[in-house]
Amino acid sequence: MMSMKPQDPKKIPRVALPADARPDTLAVREGLPRTVWGENSEALFLTSSFVQPDAATAAARFANEEEAFTYSRFSNPTVMMMERRLAALEGTSGCIATASGMAAIMLLVMGLLKAGDHVVCSRSVFGSTIKLLQSEFGKFGVQSSFVSQTDLAEWRAAIQPNTRLLFAETPSNPLTEVCDIRALAEIAHACGAWLAVDNCFCSPALQRPAEYGADFIIHSGTKYLDGQGRVIAGAICGSAEMVEQKFVPVMRSCGLSLSPFNAWVVLKGMETLAIRMREQSARALQLATWLESQVQVARVYYPGLVSHPQHALAMAQQAGLGGAVLSFVVRGEGAVAARANAFAVIDHTQVCSITANLGDTKTTITHPASTSHGRLTEVQRQAAGIAQGLIRVAVGLDDVEDLKTDLLRGLVTL
Ligand SMILES: *Cc1c(COP(=O)(O)O)cnc(C)c1O
Repeated sequence: MMSMKPQDPKKIPRVALPADARPDTLAVREGLPRTVWGENSEALFLTSSFVQPDAATAAARFANEEEAFTYSRFSNPTVMMMERRLAALEGTSGCIATASGMAAIMLLVMGLLKAGDHVVCSRSVFGSTIKLLQSEFGKFGVQSSFVSQTDLAEWRAAIQPNTRLLFAETPSNPLTEVCDIRALAEIAHACGAWLAVDNCFCSPALQRPAEYGADFIIHSGTKYLDGQGRVIAGAICGSAEMVEQKFVPVMRSCGLSLSPFNAWVVLKGMETLAIRMREQSARALQLATWLESQVQVARVYYPGLVSHPQHALAMAQQAGLGGAVLSFVVRGEGAVAARANAFAVIDHTQVCSITANLGDTKTTITHPASTSHGRLTEVQRQAAGIAQGLIRVAVGLDDVEDLKTDLLRGLVTL
């Protein structure tokens, strides 16, 4: 061992993938060339800075005249491997990783907009996204209008001369409403604005918004990309040019950086993304179909069901799969009884995890009206369609028969 020497760089196996490698191959291999040690699993570079050979080279690298790693706030090999892999899956030439999904949305707005600009956003997006746009960016003079997830006329009517960004999330949480990405891209581009799509629920394994004309794709890596509920992470995908020009400078000044450790966890999570999404979607469809036949269930929301109002659009846009999140309303006369019934179903579970997170291999169950949408007034909640009897299930890799039994424990008591 004392004589162990780094490999001759010319002998490091396979520095590049074939140009026509397909998504499943890219998901397990896209990244950076192996290091001089020839490792098969990607290395975790837990280092805040990178040593430079001499002062002149350091100067050239800090001035961006020469490409090399200098400081992990804005570039780290493990983070870059995650970015390259996610970009390959989304089919974009660029990607920038962030500390969380919310940090990605913050970086998006900071990179693209300035005071006086206007955003049109779906009313059904993640609650913190609405807060960030309305309360935080509102303070800095970026105004936002919120419109129906599905009514394109409302999106068109909300466009102003200063509209620079349209923001959508599809399917929505928890009612799984689907918006037409191609139609939104056309509306955005006709007025010189960009379209950003939060692709957290489908992931690139099911839906690639860039193929429908979206300019930027937002990810909470916390969800399906990690896939096992371990770390908080995020990213923006888009053209390499836009990432370089608009987002890297903000990252350098603001430090919304993803830690290399969390990047490594997400990088390895992406290796199983496609098979997890396919399998969890199949299990969600089985569970949704079964729920529709239960007498105690008034309604099921799941894009994979023929009863879903945008079933055809969802199937076309999401590779024929419904994703792994479904919601259902338990019967109950009036809000008080409906809420009590929903709580009974949740509290009788022995397998499902009672938690608001999603994207885990462990199935999670939650009551949106008192958790994710708990801060709304009852009137706002009803406008958003979040009934007191509504329960959301994010289906993991638990056995579907165990999940049915788990939900039945409470349903039979109603
Ligand atoms: C969770 C989530 C986010 C925020 O991601 P974090 O990683 O928790 O910051 C954004 N959008 C959607 C759709 C989400 O589900």
